[in-house]
Formats: sequence, C-alpha cells, structure tokens
Amino acid sequence: MIVVMKVGSPEAEIARVSQDLAEWGLTPEKIVGKHKVVLGLVGETVDLDPLQIQEISPWIEEVLRVEKPFKRASLEYRHGEASDVVVPTPNGDIHIGEHHPVVIVAGPCSVENEEMIVETARRVKAAGAHFLRGGAYKPRTSPYAFQGHGESALGLLAAARDASGLGIITEVMDSADLEKIAEVADVVQVGARNMQNFSLLKKVGAQDKPVLLKRGMSATIEEWLMAAEYILAAGNPNVILCERGIRTFDRQYARNTLDLSVLPVLRSLTHLPIMIDPSHGTGKAEYVPAMALAAIAAGADSLMIEVHPNPAKALSDGPQSLTPDRFDSLVQEMAVIGKAVGRWPQPALAVA
Ligand code: PEP
Ligand code: MN
Repeated sequence: MIVVMKVGSPEAEIARVSQDLAEWGLTPEKIVGKHKVVLGLVGETVDLDPLQIQEISPWIEEVLRVEKPFKRASLEYRHGEASDVVVPTPNGDIHIGEHHPVVIVAGPCSVENEEMIVETARRVKAAGAHFLRGGAYKPRTSPYAFQGHGESALGLLAAARDASGLGIITEVMDSADLEKIAEVADVVQVGARNMQNFSLLKKVGAQDKPVLLKRGMSATIEEWLMAAEYILAAGNPNVILCERGIRTFDRQYARNTLDLSVLPVLRSLTHLPIMIDPSHGTGKAEYVPAMALAAIAAGADSLMIEVHPNPAKALSDGPQSLTPDRFDSLVQEMAVIGKAVGRWPQPALAVA
C-alpha cells in the first residue's frame, strides 16, 4: 500500500502521518520523488481501510494498494517514477537509470593477471566505458574449469581501479566472501545461477554497495522481480536488473536467447534500472554488436559487454569476448543510436 502526499506537503505533516501509521504497527518507508513524497507500507495491510488512512491528514492525496506480489520493486511503489542508482567512482558519480545516458560496463569474464586487467581497464576507459567488470570468483559448469583467482584477483581489480578510475563490478557467489568483495567492488554482482539463492540475496541486501542482479537462466520476470524484492526488503534500495539471456528450445547457434522484450515489460512493472548483457545473451562475439545496438534502441539504461585483450587465449568466455579494438568501434556505433534516442552524453558546449 502507498500513501501519496500532496505536492508541497510540510515535512512536519509527513512526519506526523508516518508516526500515526507507525502507531498502527506499520513501518512506513519514505520515498522522496521529484514532485511528491510517497509513504510505502509493506506487510499486513490487507485489513487496512484506505479511507481510514486518508483521514489522518488533509495533505494525503490518495491511498493506493500495490496489487503486485513484488511491492518495493513495483512501479506503483514509487508512484510511477523511475529510480536511479548512483554509484560513486574515482571518476565521479555514475547515475544508472531511465533519465540518464546509457552506462557502459566492459571487461573480461575473469580477472586473469594484473597486466591483462589493467590493460583492459585502460582500453575500455579510453573507449568510453564507465565500469570495469571482471570475475574473481567464477560460477563454472564444470568443477575442472578455471574457477577464478579468488581473493588475489580482488587485489588486481583494485589495481585496475587505481590505474583507470573506473568503478568495479564483480560477482559474489558465497556470502562468506561478501565483505572482502564489497571492499573492492563499487557494484556487487549476483550471477544468473544465484538469482534465487535467497540467503545470498538477504546478505547483499543487508550491505551498502549497489547490487547488480542477473536474471536466472530460466527465471520468469516475476521470479526475477521477487528476487530483487528480497534485496530491497533487506534494506538495500540500490538494485540494477540485468538481462543476460534465457534458456529456450534453441541453443544450437546462440548460447542463450537474449530477451530484449524485458525492456518495455520491466518498464511497465518496476522502477528499477535495467542493464542488458549481450555477451552472455548470445555467446558469440560476432552477434554482440547487433544486440548491443538493439538494446540501446529499445531503452536499456546500461550495457555489459565482455572485452578481452586476446579472446582466443581467454580462460573463460573467450568466444563471446570482443577485442579492445572491436569494443572501441562498437562504442562509436552505440553513440549513434544513443544520440538518436536521447540517451548519450552531450559534449560540453564550447564557450566563446
Ligand atoms: C558473468 O558475468 O561472467 C557471468 C558468469 O554471468 P551470468 O551469471 O549471467 O552467467
Ligand atoms: Mn562470462
């Protein structure tokens, strides 16, 4: 249920309404939008009468029920207003959300050694990326495949951050590693295979770093939003959803089916920012550019693209990784579409 306060409601009145609601045993969550303040009420609200709440104050505009099972993640919870996730990085605050330019995340699947991660960071930064991605802990189908260098790779990500100023995005698989990962990561990634690891979701929800939540490979949109709800309910409001391809009947030519229809669908359901990962979504470097461009045209807030200095030698996901040169030219192609849809940073006007 949400209580929408009228434009210009005095702070003292909002506080009084919150206090009255708290006396009824509710825990109102104050959401400050562009024009209005909304008080979100989650929990046992079935027996509450919206009309009775309405009577608390003449400054209450309306009281609405959120019908969806995902409450805090729903668009209604913010009264239709998109939220953005603001990530402080050495290069400044990066805003990820519907009303901001497209944010680009790039880097290798795995952190392999210092030279390759620092070189990749410098190259993707020069091309226009805002974040460096790279796995220290890798979820691999085979226990015999490269599992990531673990803790030592976190130190290498920190070195790449220092060298480039880029924000760092890296995956957490085990909550035992969360604290040390969060020391280095600017955004903590929960991978597709852990999307419904509810204890991990509660843990990432109880820490401060923004969370990138990948869609499970067979997850419905509702299951995905309910996973996001776990993180929001645990107290972390900064969740970014990432579509990375789902399993369908056809895996012969592409690794996954990249579901770009989530862009308009999620937009109608949730206020959370949306990232698209065409690398895992297709599994082949040659298919990545077309889907990256399509994602921007369809309204993606952010793109995640795997880039490796020598894809043929990569320890994981080489076939879907772009070379730094190809990534560089792709960013230029993305700029054309980004500008066309009004989602590309405008160059500063020259002052005479
Ligand atoms: C990755 O980002 O390298 C990764 C393992 O992604 P996903 O969880 O989407 O498979
Ligand atoms: Mn990968």
